[in-house]
Amino acid sequence: MALEIRIDRDTCMGSGNCSFWAPHTFDLDEDGVAVVIDPAGDPEDKIILAAQGCPTQAIRVLRDGEPVA
Ligand code: SF4
Repeated sequence: MALEIRIDRDTCMGSGNCSFWAPHTFDLDEDGVAVVIDPAGDPEDKIILAAQGCPTQAIRVLRDGEPVA
């Protein structure tokens, strides 16, 4: 089952770290805020790294409702 990815758009500071680590999963929208473009766009370890690397901890990753990052 695919990961569930949540981005707190109020907390995101638009650093772009997530789209660097997992470029097929995250992107920045026209407001410079991160969005999920495909929750299965990159390997899970890359998505988790991206979430852990967010400087404002704006990304939550869940599997079966349980947080994994
Ligand atoms: S790494 Fe975090 S702060 Fe940076 S763009 Fe992604 S969600 Fe926003």
